[in-house]
Amino acid sequence: MIVNNQTALMGIIGNPLEHSLSPLMHNFTLAKMGLNYVYLPLQVAPDFLRASLDGLRALNFIGVNVTIPYKKEVIQFLDELSPEASACEAVNLIKNENGHLIGYNTDGRGFMASLEEEGIQSIHRVIMIGAGGAAYSLAYELSLAGAEQIDILDIEQDKAAALANFVNQLPGGKAAGMRMNEKLFIHLSAQADLIINCTPVGMFPNIEATPIGSFDKVPGAAVIYDLVYNPLVTRFLAIAGARQLKTINGSSMLVHQGALTLKILTGVQPPLAYMREVILNNCQRC
Ligand code: NAP
Repeated sequence: MIVNNQTALMGIIGNPLEHSLSPLMHNFTLAKMGLNYVYLPLQVAPDFLRASLDGLRALNFIGVNVTIPYKKEVIQFLDELSPEASACEAVNLIKNENGHLIGYNTDGRGFMASLEEEGIQSIHRVIMIGAGGAAYSLAYELSLAGAEQIDILDIEQDKAAALANFVNQLPGGKAAGMRMNEKLFIHLSAQADLIINCTPVGMFPNIEATPIGSFDKVPGAAVIYDLVYNPLVTRFLAIAGARQLKTINGSSMLVHQGALTLKILTGVQPPLAYMREVILNNCQRC
């Protein structure tokens, strides 16, 4: 990569960022596409979120991804939201159009594309563990796709209830929000056909952690999905795998949402297979 005075700037803002493979995936892919862009990790402390967005304008960044913990908080500082970001009340991508910051959300569509790729078409009962920024976009898409019931468990009752309330206001949406507790999870899991870890629990460097210790009551046909992609096999997925349940890790969603990001920021369709190859090659070291 040659950085010169024509190089366009992209990046990711979040805190912490040590887990993120986005800089690696995007820099390899931009080089493969022959584009003179660079994608930087931009760790932002909470008190500097607003200042960091002014910095994007000042330094003429073309756009940045947004990750934990800022997907909702960032909205108040933006000039415009895409219909999806507005509907799911979370932003994972900001495009800078001459100082006008537009928030997008590619997480939900990336997640649905990953389900489609795995041949998963109909979803009836879902359990979502964690009710943060990513969970909103998934709940939004799952609800639109016809999920009959979404049970949401978060360590904070208020957050679970707020997400359930959001889903219940969508056309056909049906959800319940509860405080996370293993006994309740075991009870609900007996009916579930998709269980998703939407928390960072188990993510590098805390790889021994898991939000759930047992999938014993889960039906054999259920799918267990972890949004975490670093490591590829989290403890959450390893426990499910030991019971021979179908598991999906976060790498496929990462690739799909990343491809949508590049399309929005550069206008060019990126090479999906190459992006996947970069992630899988580098995740072997995760
Ligand atoms: P977030 O906004 O921090 O939300 C996580 C939520 O889970 C918070 O409400 C948190 O509560 C709650 N939580 C934490 N520990 C819990 C537990 N043991 N049981 C139940 N709830 C718990 O994070 P996010 O932006 O939604 O991201 C969540 C994860 O998804 C991260 O690991 C992120 O890297 C991953 N992700 C992956 C992709 C991908 O492409 N694969 C895309 C988006 C996100 P507190 O706030 O009180 O801790």
